[in-house]
Amino acid sequence: MTGEPLYEGKAKKIFPADRADEYLVYFKDDATAFNGAKKGTIESKGQLNNAISAAFFELLAQAGVKTHFIRQVDANTSLVKKVAIIPLEVVVRNIAAGSLSQRLGWPEGQTLATPIVEFYYKDDALGDPLINNAHIAALGVATPSELAHLEAEGLKINRILTAYLLARGLKLVDFKLEFGRTGDGIVLADEISPDTCRLWDAQTNEKLDKDRFRRDLGGVEAAYQEIYRRLVLAKPIYKAKVAVRLKESVLDPQGEAILRALQSQGESGYKAIRVGKLIELVLEGDDLTDVQKKVAKLADDLLANPIMETYAVTVESFS
Ligand code: UDP
Repeated sequence: MTGEPLYEGKAKKIFPADRADEYLVYFKDDATAFNGAKKGTIESKGQLNNAISAAFFELLAQAGVKTHFIRQVDANTSLVKKVAIIPLEVVVRNIAAGSLSQRLGWPEGQTLATPIVEFYYKDDALGDPLINNAHIAALGVATPSELAHLEAEGLKINRILTAYLLARGLKLVDFKLEFGRTGDGIVLADEISPDTCRLWDAQTNEKLDKDRFRRDLGGVEAAYQEIYRRLVLAKPIYKAKVAVRLKESVLDPQGEAILRALQSQGESGYKAIRVGKLIELVLEGDDLTDVQKKVAKLADDLLANPIMETYAVTVESFS
């Protein structure tokens, strides 16, 4: 991007777009932490976060979440709808970490009984303090019904992202959202990236986010690259179900036992019962047909006994 930005923040620059109701957002390589006290750059972060954030926003839009995102225009830049940012950071947490661990003494890594939504007042001079509903009402930054909407959206987005990330071997520990007002209501804005989420490898709990920069853990670029690889470069993920049934000609002692038990209880309405099994798989593939073929082969080779059983495969996109 060339020319003067309308606004330059810590990680992004905002430029005018062709249309007056849109902006171009340029993602920078600059990184800051602790309210700007720690500064640095992360090589290629701008490009990686632009692509990762686009993938998240597209996923959320498909799931019916209203967002500011329109499309990526080049490696570092995306086109978005112009919004008036609500000065609240909506943080959703699944696992204790960061400021929550410090505030309540909960060890990092402790899974929370239910997700927690918190609001922070976006004010650099005050250090973005944690605030509650009464503070928000007194500040006049959102009405009670808007606040209820932000909380519900936060929890909905958490459900969508948690499932999506887990399918890609990542735990969503916590994340920060920002929302903005448009003529068309409140929409999700800003970015969702390793700068604004804590993401841990699901197997090893290795940190793959900005905590590597905040805490000088090393391997910062590699962590952002890994998230990009798993979310943007990897093949799509599908959910397949294999329903295995005994062939009609094969006797089913299990089904007969259930039938007899029902009949002995005086339930005379049941005429036949046959027991099968349902196997659910989450796997990556090029497309539905590719996955259908792969799973059918697996069913032939391993899941069903071709002498006694038949099977049916169904495949759908998984988050
Ligand atoms: N977060 C953010 N911007 C902020 C503060 C927090 O994106 O200004 C994100 C952060 O990356 C983490 C979550 O919000 O995923 C919760 O952060 P926390 O309150 O634990 O604060 P931190 O330890 O990051 O200072």
